[in-house]
Amino acid sequence: MLYEDPQLRLLNTLDEIEDYAIISLDLSGTIESWNRGAEKIKGYTAHDIIGKNFSVFYTPGDQSDGLPASLLSLAYKDGRAYHEGWRVRRDGTTFWGAVVITASHDSNGVVTGFCKITRDLTERILNEQLIKDQLAELKQKNRELEQFVYIASHDLQEPLLTIKDFMDLAKDEFPYVFETGVELYLNVIHQSADRMSGLIRGLLDYSRLGSKAVRTEVDCMQLMEAIKEDMSASLRNSGASLTYENLPVITAFPLEIRQLFQNLISNAIKFRKTGQQGIVNVSCKQEGEYWKFSVTDNGIGIAPAFHERIFMIFQRLHPRSIYEGTGIGLANCKKIVDMHSGIIGVTSEQGQGSTFYFTIPVKYSTSR
Ligand code: ADP
Repeated sequence: MLYEDPQLRLLNTLDEIEDYAIISLDLSGTIESWNRGAEKIKGYTAHDIIGKNFSVFYTPGDQSDGLPASLLSLAYKDGRAYHEGWRVRRDGTTFWGAVVITASHDSNGVVTGFCKITRDLTERILNEQLIKDQLAELKQKNRELEQFVYIASHDLQEPLLTIKDFMDLAKDEFPYVFETGVELYLNVIHQSADRMSGLIRGLLDYSRLGSKAVRTEVDCMQLMEAIKEDMSASLRNSGASLTYENLPVITAFPLEIRQLFQNLISNAIKFRKTGQQGIVNVSCKQEGEYWKFSVTDNGIGIAPAFHERIFMIFQRLHPRSIYEGTGIGLANCKKIVDMHSGIIGVTSEQGQGSTFYFTIPVKYSTSR
């Protein structure tokens, strides 16, 4: 049938809509009309349901809490009521419904009934739940892994300490080793044990990083003054200069932020070019919702092929005989920036200096 009257055409279309259940209710919530979408979503035919109260779509719990009636009175009072929750189909199965109840008025503005539109959002809600569950599982696995690293590294320290103690005892109690040259071997073993101790300590620190952290305001200018003071010996010995300007006050985990700056600055000093004064600068600018900090040096630089690898734990690009280190510093930096919901990266070319940058949200909206 062809409808010339646009009003009739609209009514006919409402009846045909399948993605929304569109029904009209009288003042007491009795169902007066029913479209095809309602049949599809709720499973009743118009014949089954017209004349019944719309509360049949609600779970027994919602019914005894009086939810259907309170939604109607809200729509009566405010003209509109919105609610999302589990609803019941004819066959007893449930779906997640997003419901808008709108009051219909006569020409005098008196409420005469309601129009109720329901969307089935079950798929969306289940997907959201799935993502939440997976996130919770991932967080739990992460905690377990950190716990494992903590316990393993803690337990590994013990036998190492014993090795070192007994080597010291051997040196004290068997002085003849000085004559036989065995001392050289003992020293190498001792140095390796020391180094392993350092690596394990680094792992322990890495696993514990941020476990007790609380966010506060951090004035980065003041922080940088303190760091410069702390590093004055290293700056003096290396002849490097450290400058900084226009650093903001941020909301952050203070000890971790300090460690982040210290790691980046000490790397910038350590990886300077021989025969050239090291110049390190710390700056910051706001980019949208984030502060973007940069630590720039004029040092040896890093080839692009290694820009991602260096943030992994124990990854180093140089032998220890040239540059001392454990390869944990940048892994710590990455973990600290992750804790702050930011990103960290580097722009650099071999031999051209490096800029390590990281972002910190201006405002925190996520919880850890
Ligand atoms: P470590 O400094 O103990 O070696 P890091 O995790 O701090 O460990 O750094 C990993 C590697 O990244 C370093 O060994 C070095 O090769 C490279 N790197 C870090 N910072 C710089 C820098 N500012 N300039 C050049 N290379 C750097």
